[in-house]
Amino acid sequence: MKQNKLRFIAILASLLIFGFTLTSLTSYYAAHDSLSKQISETALPLTSDNIYSEIQRDLLQPIFISSLMAQDTFVRDWTLSGEIDEERLVKYLKEIQSRYNTVTSFFVSDASKKYYHSTGVLKTISPVDPMDDWYFSFVNTGKEYEIHLDFDTAHPTDMAVFINYRVYDYSGNFIGVTGVGLAVDKVQERILTYQKRYGRSVSFIDREGTIMLSNTNDYAGSSIRRTPGLQDIATQILSQPSGTFSYVRDGKTVHLNSRLVNEFQWYLLVEQEEKSVETKILHNLKSNLIVSVLISIIVIVIAHITISRYQNKLQEMATTDKLTGVPNRNVFDPIFDQISKAARRHGHPVSVAMLDIDHFKAVNDEHGHLNGDMVLKSVARIIQDRLRESDTVCRWGGEEFLLLLPECDELRAFKLCDDLRKIIEKRTFMNGQTEIRLTVSIGVTQMAHDEPALPLINRADQALYQSKRTGRNKVSIC
Ligand code: GH3
Ligand code: MG
Ligand code: MG
Repeated sequence: MKQNKLRFIAILASLLIFGFTLTSLTSYYAAHDSLSKQISETALPLTSDNIYSEIQRDLLQPIFISSLMAQDTFVRDWTLSGEIDEERLVKYLKEIQSRYNTVTSFFVSDASKKYYHSTGVLKTISPVDPMDDWYFSFVNTGKEYEIHLDFDTAHPTDMAVFINYRVYDYSGNFIGVTGVGLAVDKVQERILTYQKRYGRSVSFIDREGTIMLSNTNDYAGSSIRRTPGLQDIATQILSQPSGTFSYVRDGKTVHLNSRLVNEFQWYLLVEQEEKSVETKILHNLKSNLIVSVLISIIVIVIAHITISRYQNKLQEMATTDKLTGVPNRNVFDPIFDQISKAARRHGHPVSVAMLDIDHFKAVNDEHGHLNGDMVLKSVARIIQDRLRESDTVCRWGGEEFLLLLPECDELRAFKLCDDLRKIIEKRTFMNGQTEIRLTVSIGVTQMAHDEPALPLINRADQALYQSKRTGRNKVSIC
């Protein structure tokens, strides 16, 4: 019985834990998938759009300024008229720089190869000076303008983002390059601002995959083809104008959105680690599991209490006589085993008595079955009241009771039974106004050493029979 209960509780616990874990994990993976999808398909492209429009606002202004400088009739006229009075152009460049708050503004004349700057003529550029490579390579590209990351000629230790614009004369002949430069720090600050605002990391790479700008300078100048994780998808990124990718960096999934910014011919990369979202849904998973464990424990405890209660009830029903409330026959065997073992160990005497109501049939016949029942209950109570804690009375049959008396020899048992007999003889049981009187016959016997139950009970029966035979209302010993 106990084992069955434990098995049932173990099965219930396993089912609950299995069910809860399965549903928690299923919802975790579903949330995980939909969030990953949401990041890569919605959130990152949206961020990319926002940053793109901010960049246009922030960086298109310098492009526009450079374009204005390239179109400016003053610059062209001044160049075409032989670059006389250099101070005038320097003043012009200075004005541009302070008005638009750029870090540098410049003009390089193709005729004189002079590098004009807001502070004066810095140098004459030369194809053999590596510092001047930018000029010759830009001229060779044939592009109208370019955005170029380089060391500033005016402050060779500082990096700047240059917007180089071609200048033409009125007949469309190339006469020089002009433009402004922005401090890389400032641009990086902007990137950091985007990054903070959108909670995602932002960087720019050129069409070859070289990292031009990122929030840190860690990777600046290196190629995404050599960046751990990114290298696997570098070719894919660089072969399409925009795309959505995922890759693994330091064991974590990173979602990436790329788009080509036409004005710069740079790619804008917006990345987000799955970790931040992961932490949130992992937290949910943990809470789910904790709640599941708590519910499981509560269900198991309730099940345990309910089953125990029903078990006790069943046991009580199986071992108690419904009418009289005293133990029934089923109790005899286990109690007899216990008593018999103790008697063997300690050498105590054990006695058994069989009690039967005399002419009980007549009681039923005269006073009705219900009154018979009432009498049975009263007799049972009288017996129980007279017995010690260690004694047991069982309802053996219809109006028969068996008394199991440990640490009691047959003489003491006789005395106890005779007292009982006398009490019952004197007692008046009432049926309304009618009195019911009855007597009992009892057979007593003492257990022999190591004697089994059956011969002992038979002997008690014989003693009872003897009492009946010799006139009833008697106690006999056998
Ligand atoms: P004796 O002196 O020889 O024992 O005579 P008796 O009438 O007591 O013996 P018998 O065994 O012939 O009758 C016992 C009766 O007890 C028969 C039955 O109707 C009655 N009886 C048995 N169980 C119950 C019960 O639960 N309630 C009632 N009211 N009567 C019962
Ligand atoms: Mg009988
Ligand atoms: Mg009887």
